[in-house]
Amino acid sequence: MSELMHDPDTGDRVPPADELPPVCADAPALLRADDQASLRAVFALAAQARAQGRHPFAARVLAADGTLLAEAINHSMPPEGDPTCHAERMAAAVAARLATPQQLRTATLYTNAEPCAMCAGAIYWCGIGRVVYGLSETALLGLTGNHPENPTLSLPCRQVFAAGQRPTEVVGPCLQDEAAVAQRGFWQGGAHAG
Ligand SMILES: [Zn+2]
Repeated sequence: MSELMHDPDTGDRVPPADELPPVCADAPALLRADDQASLRAVFALAAQARAQGRHPFAARVLAADGTLLAEAINHSMPPEGDPTCHAERMAAAVAARLATPQQLRTATLYTNAEPCAMCAGAIYWCGIGRVVYGLSETALLGLTGNHPENPTLSLPCRQVFAAGQRPTEVVGPCLQDEAAVAQRGFWQGGAHAG
């Protein structure tokens, strides 16, 4: 947790939760008691991704009883990675290989930023019933700018899920100030290897 409390570039203190704007902007009633801790764990994983030179994105899939089914960080830069290796897609795929359809339906995928259209499609096809995210796609775009490594798909994940035949509960954006810490200063640095 300690690395989340300070901006990695400036060292500035990140305000504690009671100083932040509403925890979940558009659906506070859907946020469960354990969601904030699970989000902060995925924010910490995104910070680790950044420390490894990867794009600062991470995802974790938790079963309804809190068991960790899968976690992943982005690995989207060739030649070692590829542009489809977003954290959410990879974590969803691993979870789908390990868990039963019933476990997946009641599982939650946590991610530090709203799933892109590709990842929302993967989450849907894997049958994961719930998504909780930090930054909105719009807020992320504000932090990345028009960086060539992250040409944002401006399609809300709710729109992708709404086109499916089974429901996916979406909660977010949540804790956006904390979610932004891993992104700040990263996208102004030119090309990345990971
Ligand atoms: Zn994605």
